[in-house]
Amino acid sequence: MANCAIVGINWGDEGKGRMVDLLTQDYDVVVRYQGGGNAGHTVVNEFGKFALHLLPSGIFRKNVVNVMGNGVALDCENLWTEIEDVRAKGVEISPKNFRISTRASLLLPWHRELDALEEARLKDKKYGSTKQGIAPFYSDKYQKKTIMAGELLYPDALEAHVADLLEWKNLTLTGVYGARPYTIKGIMDWLNTYGGAIKPFLCDTTTFFEQARQEGKSILFEAQLGALRDLDYGIYPYTTSSNTLAAYAPVGAGIPSVRLDEVVGVVKAYSTCVGEGPFTAEWFGEEAEELRKAGAEYGAKTGRPRRVGPIDLVATRYGVRMQGATNIALTKLDVLSYMERIPVCTKYVVEGEETGDFPFPTALEQAKPVIEYVPGWQCDISGARRWEDLPQAARDYVEYVEREIGCRIGYVSVGPARDEIVIR
Ligand code: GDP
Repeated sequence: MANCAIVGINWGDEGKGRMVDLLTQDYDVVVRYQGGGNAGHTVVNEFGKFALHLLPSGIFRKNVVNVMGNGVALDCENLWTEIEDVRAKGVEISPKNFRISTRASLLLPWHRELDALEEARLKDKKYGSTKQGIAPFYSDKYQKKTIMAGELLYPDALEAHVADLLEWKNLTLTGVYGARPYTIKGIMDWLNTYGGAIKPFLCDTTTFFEQARQEGKSILFEAQLGALRDLDYGIYPYTTSSNTLAAYAPVGAGIPSVRLDEVVGVVKAYSTCVGEGPFTAEWFGEEAEELRKAGAEYGAKTGRPRRVGPIDLVATRYGVRMQGATNIALTKLDVLSYMERIPVCTKYVVEGEETGDFPFPTALEQAKPVIEYVPGWQCDISGARRWEDLPQAARDYVEYVEREIGCRIGYVSVGPARDEIVIR
């Protein structure tokens, strides 16, 4: 059974969605294994343009089964809205092509509210949360204080469990934040409406995957965000609250015993970052605005302008190593076409010393970038489909990055559409 994980190497928004959309043609199952509605994968295909937040990107392909694994933050209200939006554009979504793990935990309305309340309390020390409730959700999951999706199938036990959680949660909401308490009726109505809507998709995904394995089906694992946002190995505390690394994919998907055959790491040809935290090679002012405009760098979920800068080889090398990438997709190379010379962050200066190693988060706050330049190509490359179609300077840039990060670049994308890609 062949399998592959598609993961982000940097801060997220590298273009994973378009890579999953492209590669799903080779796989039978696409599974999301972590995260929730706090990021968006943009996919452009024959049905239109989509910012998917929860649905796996294989949803557009016929004969692909899409799975939300146990590791995701399952917000059934937002998921249901997304299902309806995607269906409205002519895409079929049924229990035949979409499954949700009974072991996925539910993100509840109070998680979103607590996220917003805590960011407001933190004021200028906020984490830059998208306020989708992800951090409060994962905290509760690991405290064993939320509900597993499979409990929707046992309504009597569910109500008693909700009542216990509600009593505890209201203590925090009213006591710590001075917010209004939730009622059992309010939560049960919400669960009946949105939990009820997603019930037909629930399944024991461990059994599903076991059967898929026996039938020799191939699996694509789809990650959210990037290595630098991984809870354990990222820029803590400016990470997300789940594990974005490929190593977690089998656990969060529902097939913990499987080994990954391939890990495709997605790297953008320059750097972007949404939210707070150290971003060493960051650009400001006019040159930042020019790059932001060229790359249309505004958040898929929030519309917030993304922070931008040159490609960061120190962070990228670290991301490649943490992900165990076996192949790299370098995206948005076309965006750099306007530049006379291409800036590259080759090293950091930390405490007066140059280093090529990615520092511990506390030291990262003080790191300064060392910027070097390589020649640009200054022509439109969006029509390139073969390696030879790219101008020499563009090929040199790709090969330079490849050498520096120590991993083969097998894909170079030159536009957002499915076919705007060079496969080497
Ligand atoms: P993801 O979360 O990693 O899937 O990334 P996003 O969806 O946030 O960001 C990728 C954005 O870049 C989307 O708007 C894509 O349509 C767009 N995109 C992806 N690949 C390319 C490319 O090669 N060139 C250009 N110009 N845009 C691209």
